[in-house]
Amino acid sequence: MEIRTANLQLMKEWNLSLLSKLIRKNPGVSRADLTAATNLSPTTVSSLVAELIENGMVREIGVGKSAAGRKPILLELIPDGRIALGVCIDHDGVFVAPVNLIGQPLTKFEASVNLADSQAILDKISEGIEFSLNFLKEKGLSDRLVGAGIGILGLVEGTTTRYLLGDDWHSLDLTPLIEKYRHHLTFVVENDVNAMALGETWFGVGEEDRHVLYVYLGYGLGAGLIIDGVLYRGAYGNAGELGHMSIDAHGPNCSCGLKGCLGPIADGTHVMLKIAEAIKNGTPTSMTLDSLYLENFIEAALNGDKLCSDLLDEMISNVSRGIISAINLLNPSRVILGGLLCPPQHIVSEKLISLIKENSISCNREDFKVSASNLGVSAGVVGSATLVLKSLFELPTYKKRTSL
Ligand SMILES: [Zn+2]
Repeated sequence: MEIRTANLQLMKEWNLSLLSKLIRKNPGVSRADLTAATNLSPTTVSSLVAELIENGMVREIGVGKSAAGRKPILLELIPDGRIALGVCIDHDGVFVAPVNLIGQPLTKFEASVNLADSQAILDKISEGIEFSLNFLKEKGLSDRLVGAGIGILGLVEGTTTRYLLGDDWHSLDLTPLIEKYRHHLTFVVENDVNAMALGETWFGVGEEDRHVLYVYLGYGLGAGLIIDGVLYRGAYGNAGELGHMSIDAHGPNCSCGLKGCLGPIADGTHVMLKIAEAIKNGTPTSMTLDSLYLENFIEAALNGDKLCSDLLDEMISNVSRGIISAINLLNPSRVILGGLLCPPQHIVSEKLISLIKENSISCNREDFKVSASNLGVSAGVVGSATLVLKSLFELPTYKKRTSL
């Protein structure tokens, strides 16, 4: 008897998730549309929609047209009906934002941090969480919060991550942070680029695609793989290490132990190191040892600085080769370029897109798409929040607001 009750509850939660997902994807859908799109009876749909409305996830937005009979009432998600905190920690700093059901950050905390200092990272994340909790309290939205997703650089295993800074491995355990907030928040932890890939397929340019290769190019280089609609983590959670794809037998040694990895040839950190070396060797350039930032590098390259424009061309060529190999291996229908070096409508993104489109095995297909991320600098926090928000639509973890 108990098992039967549990099964019925599980089925109801699945159906609630299914309906909320359909309403999210189709704003203005009616109850009749939902009945037609599922195997559920009209009575079941009505009762479940009533529950979604009662719990503040869905609202009625007017009446639609009807050739005959009663006009249908149209439904949509309430954007701020549920909110998750997105926490992103990478080479660019610490970012925290409350993100709503339609993938909008409501405010944003950002701070730079020394990635070699574990305590400083935990302190900055706490500061960002407090900032966000206070914001939600001021706006009267505290009861909408369903959890926090943390996207963090490195090889994530449970609540710990390991990452390379230069040639040295560092590790960070998030347990003290999770313990600190255990009465307020549930956490999901994932690699930062994996989280971004997920965010792009829920709220970004890849929303319609089931096979997506997301590439992050900034100080680091990595990829997130969405395969058949699901984030692919690999056997040990390390899938997508594009920066450690070995592409040059005669290339430099990589800190991972291999030779000729793509990262040491082409990521932002190593391009900065090459510029530093060139400055020390007296190569003419507008860059200085104090201005070794990617934004300055791009600006110098576009302003005709020969050292920087040569390095940029070389980087684009090498990165494109790595991405093309990954495309030929995985056969995605969409490639999304993100990170500091790939802003939308930017010459770096445009050059990479052309090279990838022209040279990959899918180049003759019209439905093969390569584009820059449209989440831009918010990709990290939106992706991290998606780790939590997605569970409202696809897993039986639906929660009534009263239980939050
Ligand atoms: Zn490597």
